[in-house]
Amino acid sequence: MKNSTIRFIVILATLSIVGITITQLYWVRRAFDLKEAEFERTVTAALYNVAQQIYEIKDTPSPANNPVKQLSTNYFVVMVNSEINARLLEFLLRTEFEKRNIVVDFEYGVYDCTREQMVYGNYVPLKSNQKTSSQSLPEWANKGYHFGVQFPNREAHIINQMGIWSFSSIVLLVVIVFFGCTLFVILKQKRLSEIQKDFINNMTHEFKTPISTIAVSTAVLKDPSIVDNPERLLSYATIIEKENTRLKQQVERVLQMARLDKEEISLKHECVEIHQLIGDAIRNTSWALHEKQGEVNTIFEATQPEIQADRLHVTNVLTNLIDNAIKYCKGKPAITIQTANTTKGLLIEVKDNGIGISAENQKRVFQKFYRVPTGNVHDVKGFGLGLNYVKTIIQAHGGNVTLTSQLEKGSVFSVLLPLAH
Ligand code: ADP
Repeated sequence: MKNSTIRFIVILATLSIVGITITQLYWVRRAFDLKEAEFERTVTAALYNVAQQIYEIKDTPSPANNPVKQLSTNYFVVMVNSEINARLLEFLLRTEFEKRNIVVDFEYGVYDCTREQMVYGNYVPLKSNQKTSSQSLPEWANKGYHFGVQFPNREAHIINQMGIWSFSSIVLLVVIVFFGCTLFVILKQKRLSEIQKDFINNMTHEFKTPISTIAVSTAVLKDPSIVDNPERLLSYATIIEKENTRLKQQVERVLQMARLDKEEISLKHECVEIHQLIGDAIRNTSWALHEKQGEVNTIFEATQPEIQADRLHVTNVLTNLIDNAIKYCKGKPAITIQTANTTKGLLIEVKDNGIGISAENQKRVFQKFYRVPTGNVHDVKGFGLGLNYVKTIIQAHGGNVTLTSQLEKGSVFSVLLPLAH
């Protein structure tokens, strides 16, 4: 799929998700407001009925104006101005609310108007099926009383009433998560296919060069006159040998990663002396170093350089790091390899004066097949497997590898390995 098509799909998908979410939020808010207004109306009507029943029972004339006042979204006051019997009041409130399907806990308080004081209050858990409290409740014979009612779980009750809206919001959430996952998979697949394409391109290129060099050299060697020129013969034979070694190394690298992929890494632990392995790795890369007229400086400060490790794998790791330090340097490579003993283990630092790696790419270079993008020009060949191999092997040894780097200044790869006991 083309990049522009994918970008178009991502933008369209994001816009539609944002649009649907905003619409849903708008309708849920409106539904909540409507339910809230309905709740307030029903409570007012219920309280009005309670007041009327109290007037009737106490034989008091009902006032001309509505005795129910809503003082805030969740607080209603009823001016009774009559005797109040708490037991009767609680019974009437309960009955009126249940009749109107307001099945939610409420609190009420009885106030003495003359003294402006609350004389009684109770919390009534309507949700539980407990009937009117059996304890004897107080009764006031004075005339000047009013009562107030509020609902501590009002919001939960209103949300409960919005069943279809809650359901549709959950469905929408599931759709959004599903949509997000699909997009994530598409993008991941696209990245994988790009990586695969790059890898195949790289591999073909890497193999093609030594193969054609060998083919040309073989053609020269087939010329009978070459026997008269032993120097030329030797130089072409050396070219073939060198290219053959390169091919072997490349095949080995790909095979190594394929093997790591398939099975658990089996390490052959033995006591090795790290300075000796560093020496081996430097020798492995001496040809490339010589070609670029570079030099390696070693500062061996580790007084306890022995570790339990797999000789072959650790030598490969060091070879990869030195090889990269040589490859990714535009001028003459100046590489410093330093060792030290720290409290956490044996530290090996490979420092170079190469092109460096930007902060954004530093996290990615350890990923399999990742190569720092250089546009279409790939003057340095590789498969993007080396650092992934380094990380896998060092972690399998119980150590870790970190990178600090600055563009155009150089990089330092620090490998920390646990010491042999
Ligand atoms: P390869 O070298 O085969 O591409 P690696 O996994 O060894 O694969 O490296 C991944 C990428 O990290 C390289 O493509 C390169 O861009 C970058 N890199 C690795 N080592 C260095 C270094 N010493 N200096 C600058 N860039 C580096």
